[in-house]
Amino acid sequence: MGYNIKIWLIVTILFSVACKEKSKPELVETTLVDKRPNIILIVTDDLGYSDVGFNGSMDIKTPHLDALAENGIIFSSGYVAHPFCGPSRAGLMTGRYPHTIGSQFNIPSNSEAHVRKGITLEEVFMSKMLQNAGYFTGAVGKWHLGAVPDYHPNQRGFDEFYGFLGGGHDYFPNEYTAKYTQQKAAGQKVIFDYLKPLEHNGQEVVNPTEYLTDELSGKAADFVEEASTKEKPFFLYLAYNAPHVPLEAKEEDLKLFDNIENVGRRTYAAMVYAVDRGVGQLVDALKAKGEYEKTLIVFLSDNGGNTDRGATNYPLKGRKGDTSEGGYRVPMFFHWPEKINTARTYEYPVTALDFYPTFAHLAKIEIPDSKKLDGKNVWEAVSNNKNPRKDEMTFVLRHREGYSDVGVRQNEWKALKTNQNIWKLYDLEADIGEANDMSSENPEQLKKMVKAAELWSKTHTEPQWFDPIELQEDWEEEEMEKFNDTFNLTWEK
Ligand code: CA
Repeated sequence: MGYNIKIWLIVTILFSVACKEKSKPELVETTLVDKRPNIILIVTDDLGYSDVGFNGSMDIKTPHLDALAENGIIFSSGYVAHPFCGPSRAGLMTGRYPHTIGSQFNIPSNSEAHVRKGITLEEVFMSKMLQNAGYFTGAVGKWHLGAVPDYHPNQRGFDEFYGFLGGGHDYFPNEYTAKYTQQKAAGQKVIFDYLKPLEHNGQEVVNPTEYLTDELSGKAADFVEEASTKEKPFFLYLAYNAPHVPLEAKEEDLKLFDNIENVGRRTYAAMVYAVDRGVGQLVDALKAKGEYEKTLIVFLSDNGGNTDRGATNYPLKGRKGDTSEGGYRVPMFFHWPEKINTARTYEYPVTALDFYPTFAHLAKIEIPDSKKLDGKNVWEAVSNNKNPRKDEMTFVLRHREGYSDVGVRQNEWKALKTNQNIWKLYDLEADIGEANDMSSENPEQLKKMVKAAELWSKTHTEPQWFDPIELQEDWEEEEMEKFNDTFNLTWEK
């Protein structure tokens, strides 16, 4: 080995050592700092399509929600998987149509006393997926996905749970605690879900003092504070039960809506306002902890507004429970300062079933082939203002007593079967209120959509429970599972 070569070798070795030393800090940064976004999923209960400022409400004030929506992406055609609570939430958590997993009915009240089931354990909840991928996870508020231990939020992917397991709850702690204590002292075995104590990871909460919406907002802010101390991103599922009945609002909030004459509407407005105040508190917590910029906030309602209880879905037709637009097209937005810089309205149809695969994409999770999904990752489409499902259809189906209502969406078209009437067809782009039936001008379009809905219905499974429980008898007698008449184009009662 000549002298020059020796020098060259020494220089090379020194240089490579120097390079390694130099590149170390960069290596640490790219591998150890988790750059995946935090995700906050805020679900309201029975909030009407136009009961928020960002969707045109004239009488309800929602300044904090509006500030997020108007600096994010507002979905004007955002759907949920079902027009009422339980099945909609089952769809959200699993990414599956509720009918395909036996969850097409609400889990009935006080289910721990009789049904003793929850959403099938065969389905991995989005919370479990995110937890397995290293997210710190929390659920605050209403559960309604199974009230017995195997189905508890802590078993379904949530590190933290603060709230209640049933389908709803009263709002004023002094009132519900007094009723509960009285009934328990009287030896009542089954006490209505709405009165039960709140819980934290399975432990009864003793003496909560706040109006329920404020209580949940406070715990959500606490979760953000705790999450910010961890070296991992977080997922927070904040499921307010407001403005679901019972209509109960704080005096200070009611005063702000003196101008609303109808007492139901005024109380409802005050309840929505309390949610908005809570969202403001959550945003403050995110900003204080430096998490605001890197957090995707998704907001929606679990179904349409209950127009008999203060809500309005204008200009949509129908209400909670319906397969017309007002039943399951909901207020919805995305907000994420780091990635969404141009505020806009996104008009193509998306569904809450899309959130599961979309969150997986953002959290860099590869979903196994064995996991069935009924929605799709819409992130690229939403980011680029493209249609994620041109020509594809989405479905909604609600069983009533002895018949079923159905809705099908494809591009601008909506096929609707409701109240045992003949199938109708609407052009939602020209007629968002579903007023002008276009079926006689477009019979082939309607036929195609009804046929697809019939095929889709073949993927359904038997309900795991019924609500009310007595419905099981009707179901068997009326042969509901066969849907014989539902997809007959000429059938009406
Ligand atoms: Ca609901």
